[in-house]
Amino acid sequence: LSLKDSVRAVQALLPITVRHEKWLTENSNPVYSDKALKFAQQQLAGVTGSQRLRKKMFRASSATTCPRAQVFKYIGMPVRAEVDSKLSNIFATGNFLHLKWQMQGLTEGWLEEAEVPVDRDDLNAGGTMDGILYTGGGLEFKSINDRGFGKVTSFGPLEGHLYQVHNYMYLGDIGHFSIIYENKNTGEWREFRVDRNEMLIKQAEIRFAELNEHVDKKILPKVLPDCRVEEGTQFRQCPYRDVCLKVKLWPQVKT
Ligand code: SF4
Repeated sequence: LSLKDSVRAVQALLPITVRHEKWLTENSNPVYSDKALKFAQQQLAGVTGSQRLRKKMFRASSATTCPRAQVFKYIGMPVRAEVDSKLSNIFATGNFLHLKWQMQGLTEGWLEEAEVPVDRDDLNAGGTMDGILYTGGGLEFKSINDRGFGKVTSFGPLEGHLYQVHNYMYLGDIGHFSIIYENKNTGEWREFRVDRNEMLIKQAEIRFAELNEHVDKKILPKVLPDCRVEEGTQFRQCPYRDVCLKVKLWPQVKT
């Protein structure tokens, strides 16, 4: 294969890139489809998913989160009350970028459905994929800063994101995913196709089984080594950091 042929071959495997590039070029002032507008209205009104968010389950999106924190969340342990306004603003921006991609995808047609649940009650696990593509694959969107974007364009999707999409593939029995990264600083974006890797599927199965075992036996997962000395990013960003070290036995949480 010549270099041009191999680039074409790789592009052919990317379900979104060529179609979306063309759509963007032709739609600098987009008119969104009725399907996209209806979806946006439901999302902004908080109609979709509110019941599911109250459901007790381990979340596919927490693939690389500390297992102890995942169990705390599962049993409904109260989190720190204070709200960081900067973080809240970052979340809002991320949510609107998601909405932008989902509306564009629904309008162009490369996205069949947005915010698709993959709940498995038998595993006490679930999550919501950003969408399902016309190919039957899943969509995961990530906004990322310039440094992170440089990293993914050089080395591919971040490890945690590969685990996350494999959680979805395991729960929803899906064969491939497209992860789109958008650079928050420049507006550049890049699609990566991730095919199902059975070794990572097995790891996803084990992760959920272990979390369920902790709940069944009422034994909390161990405190992370850094957290034992109250250090590290995970500790600083953990909503349970005030209580984690004090809890020795299975906590009785009022729900
Ligand atoms: S403080 Fe650390 S060990 Fe405890 S739940 Fe949070 S991340 Fe996990």
